[in-house]
Amino acid sequence: MDNLHHIVVVGGGAGGLELVTRLGNKLGKKKKARITLIDAVLTHVWKPLLHEVAAGSLDASTNEINFRAHARKHHYEFQLGRMSGLDRASKRITLEPFYDNDGLEVVPEREVSYDTLVIAVGSTANDFGTPGAQDHCLFLDSLAQARKFHNLMLNAFLRTNHEASHGQPAQLPITIIGAGATGVELAAELRLASRELPVYGMNALKSNDVSISVIEAADRILPALPGRLSAAATRELERQKVRVLTGQPVSEVKADRIVMKDGTELESAMTIWAAGIKAPAFLTQLDGLETNRGNQLVVTQTLRTSDNNIFAFGDCAACPQPDSDRPVPPRAQAAHQQADTLYETLLNRLNGGEEVAFVYKDHGSLINFSRYTTVGNLMGNLSGRSMYIEGKVARLFYVSLYRMHQVALHGFLRTGMIWLMDKISRAMHPRLKLH
Ligand SMILES: Cc1cc2nc3c(=O)[nH]c(=O)nc-3n(C[C@H](O)[C@H](O)[C@H](O)COP(=O)(O)OP(=O)(O)OC[C@H]3O[C@@H](n4cnc5c(N)ncnc54)[C@H](O)[C@@H]3O)c2cc1C
Repeated sequence: MDNLHHIVVVGGGAGGLELVTRLGNKLGKKKKARITLIDAVLTHVWKPLLHEVAAGSLDASTNEINFRAHARKHHYEFQLGRMSGLDRASKRITLEPFYDNDGLEVVPEREVSYDTLVIAVGSTANDFGTPGAQDHCLFLDSLAQARKFHNLMLNAFLRTNHEASHGQPAQLPITIIGAGATGVELAAELRLASRELPVYGMNALKSNDVSISVIEAADRILPALPGRLSAAATRELERQKVRVLTGQPVSEVKADRIVMKDGTELESAMTIWAAGIKAPAFLTQLDGLETNRGNQLVVTQTLRTSDNNIFAFGDCAACPQPDSDRPVPPRAQAAHQQADTLYETLLNRLNGGEEVAFVYKDHGSLINFSRYTTVGNLMGNLSGRSMYIEGKVARLFYVSLYRMHQVALHGFLRTGMIWLMDKISRAMHPRLKLH
């Protein structure tokens, strides 16, 4: 076992977990290599589901994968730990000490050695140092944060409903900063949640008393997507009584309000920061590996860093695109495709073969407005043109991205069973999770 080539993958997210699953099934099972996954948390939830967890329209536990159990099934090892350092000469990474909820040290700082290292630690929202953002905003970068948001939202609903039932004015202003896909989809999920209140006997607080606003610094929402999509999404949000404020950079966030660059203020009881992305800061201190302004590791088109034994992919890597001066976008679609490419490269490496170049295939973008509708564009693979789609067809493509991730992790049969269980669970339980 000790002489086996050791592939260490740090980060079991949208890309990393797919990669270790395939490597484990192919190499780990036949003892052709030792595969280890390291993650800072014990379970995986596909990140694009987090806004649904936050709004309470999805029960995360049915979509949560326990790394240890998954590792046993797919022939890789799992270690709980947060990577903090790297020594390239001795081929070792450092994991921070692990503390329990009371601050007691459970496991001390450790080192893990590797032959090949793959870094796939994702990204977080970028508040660009906006004053007050860290203190007064909620973020949606992890399952823990999504659950925290959910609890705070339910308490705010209960409190405002109680006040309204005792004759006080019922007003609950919620603001989302950033109108990219995450912010727009979250707004729709929150509107749906506010419409479910009567199911739980909260009759004094009306859906329209929950005023939802989305603020965007650019002059239109979904600035990274085609104008037609952005116009359709604006119409849909307005139909759902979500206030859309564009061309409004935020200069400060206070406990109960948001201050815009032009000095205007917007009252906000709950503020969610969903703008921008940046990779974790520790990547900038990794023994000379190059990073860009967003802390992403700079990689070649074969997803390799300047060190021959270290690869990086997904949101934490800046991978060039042959026909564009912009790197591959930070999306689940890209992480999924890169996991496939890196899998081939790592197999080739063991056999003395070549690294495989990654070429991103943009299959389009879909924006899901909860139960209401889905809008998006699909890219024609041959023509390169994009086709606008909406409604049930668009929803089908939207869901299929998650199903592809599940198939990569569980295979077709199990994914089919999970899909059936999801359907039954949704039919039996109310839309809003109240615990
Ligand atoms: C609310 C939301 C909605 C989104 N919707 C979409 C969508 O509809 N379509 C789309 O294409 N993309 C969407 N995205 C973006 C998509 O989720 C990311 O592009 C994708 O998850 C990136 O995959 P990844 O493997 O690079 O990182 P992640 O999936 O973020 O995984 C990173 C993993 O690394 C672990 N980790 C982090 N730091 C460390 C460390 N120091 N040591 C050890 N482990 C560490 C984390 O615990 C996590 O498991 C959405 C994102 C959000 C937040």
